[in-house]
Amino acid sequence: MVLYLKEFKIKWGMVIDLDRCTGCGACMVACQAENNIAPPVDASDKRYSLTWMLVYQLSNKQPYPNHDVAYMPRPCLQCGKPNCVPVCPVIATDKNQEGGIVSQVNARCIGCRYCMAACPYHARYFNWQDPVWPEGMEKTLTPDVSTRPRGVVEKCLFCHHRYMYARDKARIEGRDPNALNEGDYIPACVEMCPTGAMVFGDLENPEHKVHKLSKSPYAFRLLERLNTKPQVYYYSKREWVRKQGDNYLEHETVGGV
Ligand code: SF4
Ligand code: SF4
Repeated sequence: MVLYLKEFKIKWGMVIDLDRCTGCGACMVACQAENNIAPPVDASDKRYSLTWMLVYQLSNKQPYPNHDVAYMPRPCLQCGKPNCVPVCPVIATDKNQEGGIVSQVNARCIGCRYCMAACPYHARYFNWQDPVWPEGMEKTLTPDVSTRPRGVVEKCLFCHHRYMYARDKARIEGRDPNALNEGDYIPACVEMCPTGAMVFGDLENPEHKVHKLSKSPYAFRLLERLNTKPQVYYYSKREWVRKQGDNYLEHETVGGV
C-alpha cells in the first residue's frame, strides 16, 4: 500500500509550546469530558484506559542542580501521511478533505486493530469493554459526539464536532464556512489549557498564529524522520527537549537550531 501526502487548502494544526506546558493535565480532562470518554472501571489497569490526549514527562536525566523536566501533551497528530489510514481494510479511517483531520467512523470499524499497530505515536485506543457511566454522569455527555461500543478503535479527532458547529455558525451569519476566522474553531484541550501552551489554527493561513509558529527554528515534529508529516508541531527553546521530543540518538543531528 502506497502512502501519499494529500494537500489541502485548509490544514488544521496545533503548535504546543513545551516551555509553557506545566503538565497539569487539564487538556486530558477537557478531552475526556468533551468526547464522552467513560472513566475506566479500574484506572490502575492501563489496558482499559482510553486517553486520546496523553501528557508524557521528559527529563534531561541530569543530576541536581542541572536537572530539568518538560511535559509533552500528545493528541492524534493528524499526520499528513497517516500510517493508520492505508492499513484499514474497511476505510473506517481516512484523511478528511476539509482540514486534513484524520477521521474515524466507529460504525464501520471492525476492530481488527491494524491501525493501532501502524500508528507510530500510540494515538489510537481499543474499546475492550462497553463504556460504563457513573450514575448521573450520563447527563453530562456531549450530544453531538457518539459514544463508542466495545470492539472498535477510537482516537482524537481535533473535536471535529466543534469544526461542524463553527461552519454552521458561519453559514447562519452569512460568512464563508471555508474561511473561518482564527478562534472560530478550537478543540476543547486548547480552550482549557491554563497556560496558553496550545495554539490552534490553519497551518496554511499566514494570518493564523500556528502558521508562523510552525515555521520557527524552535518548532519540531515528533519522530520527523518517519516522514509522517504531522499537523501537530511542538515548540521549545531548550535544545535537549527538541532532541528528546524528536527522539534522536546521540550521534544524530536534529532539525531546527
Ligand atoms: S480497527 Fe477499525 S479503523 Fe482500525 S484498521 Fe481495523 S477496521 Fe480500520
Ligand atoms: S498519530 Fe497515529 S492515529 Fe493519528 S494520524 Fe498519525 S498515524 Fe494516524
